[in-house]
Amino acid sequence: MGNIGAKEVPTLLDAEGRRIDGRRLDELRPIQIRAGPLRQADGSAFVEWGANKVMAAVYGPREVHPRHLQQNTKAVIQCRYNMAAFSVDERKRPGIDRRSQEISKVIAEALDSVVFAEEFPRTSIDVYIEVLQANAGTRCAGLVAASVALADAGIPMADLLPAVAVGKVGGAIALDLKKEEDNFGEADLPMALVPQSGRLVLLQMEGHMTEPELAQALDLGVGGCRVIYEKMKAALRERYSVAPAAEEAAA
Ligand code: UDP
Repeated sequence: MGNIGAKEVPTLLDAEGRRIDGRRLDELRPIQIRAGPLRQADGSAFVEWGANKVMAAVYGPREVHPRHLQQNTKAVIQCRYNMAAFSVDERKRPGIDRRSQEISKVIAEALDSVVFAEEFPRTSIDVYIEVLQANAGTRCAGLVAASVALADAGIPMADLLPAVAVGKVGGAIALDLKKEEDNFGEADLPMALVPQSGRLVLLQMEGHMTEPELAQALDLGVGGCRVIYEKMKAALRERYSVAPAAEEAAA
C-alpha cells in the first residue's frame, strides 16, 4: 500500500500474480452479450462485462440530421456515446463532455472502417451507446455492443469489431482492466480488432510502457479480442437461430 495524495493505492498484483479481483493477468472479466433487446431500434445489443452495463441502439440507414453532414457517396456514421449520471460512484455531470465527444468520435471511426457505407449514399447510420453502469473499459464494451447492434440491424459489414483494454498493473501486462487497475495502474491501452484481417482500428494509450511491453500488450489484447469475437457471434446466432421445433411448425 502506498499513497498518492489523499488516495490509498490498492495492491494491484499479489505475490501469486493474482489481480485485485483474483483474475490471472490473461483473464477477461465475465462477458454476456444479448443481441436485439430493444423493440424500437432497427438493431440493438446489451453487454454486461464485469461491472459494466452498456446498451447500444442503431437506427438507419435513414435521413441525415443535421442535413449538412450528408455525403453523396456514402452513409455517414454518427455515434453518440453517453455515460448515465448514475453509472459511476461519484456523480457524473449529465450531458456531453470532452471525454464523451472523443469516445463517440473514435468509435464512429472504428465502425466506419468495417461498415459498407458506400451502399447507402446520402443516409445516416445512427449509433447510440448508453453506459448504464461503468467500471473501466466502457469504450470497448460500447464498441462491442455497437457492432453487434449494427449486425442486428442488418447493416452490411466486413466484420464485427471486438475490443478490449490491456494495460500495465503492478509492473505486469494485464488483459481487460477494471476500474482500480485503470485508475492506479501504469498504463491503459484500449484497442479494437478486425478479426478476419488482423487490422487494429482503434488503439489509444494512456500511461507508459516499454516497446517489448507494448508488443506483449498488443498480443494479449488481440487474443482477448478473438475470445470476445466468438461471444459476439454466439449472441447473434442465438438471436437468429430457429429452434428445430419452431422450424418444423413453420414448415
Ligand atoms: N469514470 C468515472 N467518471 C467519469 C469518467 C470515467 O467514474 O466521468 C470511470 C468509469 O468507471 C470509466 C473509467 O473511469 O469506465 C475509465 O474511464 P476511461 O476514460 O479510461 O474510459 P473507459 O475505460 O471507460 O473506456
